[in-house]
Amino acid sequence: MRISHVSDGMVHGPRRYWFTGAEPEEWMPVVGVSDPDTPLTVTFGGFAVTGDGHVTLVDTGWGHRAAERPGMTGAGELPAQVAALGIEPGDVDRIVQTHLHGDHCGWLVKDDDGTLTFPRAAVYINERECAYWRSDEVDAIPFNRGMADAARSRLKAVADAGLLRTFDGELRLSDEVLILPTHGHTPGHVSVAVESEGETAILAGDLLHHPAHVEHPCWLPSVDHDPAQSVRSRERIAALAADRKAVILAPHFPIPTVVAVDRGPNGRVRTAVSSSVGGAV
Ligand SMILES: [Zn+2]
Repeated sequence: MRISHVSDGMVHGPRRYWFTGAEPEEWMPVVGVSDPDTPLTVTFGGFAVTGDGHVTLVDTGWGHRAAERPGMTGAGELPAQVAALGIEPGDVDRIVQTHLHGDHCGWLVKDDDGTLTFPRAAVYINERECAYWRSDEVDAIPFNRGMADAARSRLKAVADAGLLRTFDGELRLSDEVLILPTHGHTPGHVSVAVESEGETAILAGDLLHHPAHVEHPCWLPSVDHDPAQSVRSRERIAALAADRKAVILAPHFPIPTVVAVDRGPNGRVRTAVSSSVGGAV
């Protein structure tokens, strides 16, 4: 199996709100900064997964309006990065959306008319996630403003094409690719496990915003919908990754967007950033 990061841009800015629930004195040394307002690099985008007879994208970045966002570099490059892997739009037969925040589902469509970017891809979204973004509940949360209408129109474009696949719980897409429920960041947030030859990679979406969240699952990103549920999901996936000596990849991690996880001598979950595992599982 091969997993390729496909970027849709990056920004630099202060991120202290990713570590609420901890004092700056606690999280700064772990993150490697000495001022809580030090700009951190945050990437956007998704991952292309190949090797099981399918071409699967996990998350689709900001989308065609990414360049309008202030301070972005490399904005809106996801389709070009997919093409650079030798993948034509029509080759993509599966998309898994970890959730429907605006920075994750943008390239479901490639214009304001709702033209599908990847016209053959079945789009897998947890049924609670779909129901949430179609409900009035979503509009009541200020953080969602501006994202709800976009999510609805993208959902409609996919559904109108007969390509929306909703599910609950775990869903196995192939011998190698398994969708796992990791709710909390949003009501129906999911992650994707890629398993091959005894090795595991977990594509964690926004279950984790920074590699430090693996060892410190209670350092809350303030953008979690249900913090308590999100912590439980983070702890469960961190333990799973540690037991399997897996790698975790997440679209907002700094390049190379991957962290290796295992257990230390005391059984504690621990991480080591490794650039040597960025290409293949
Ligand atoms: Zn995000």
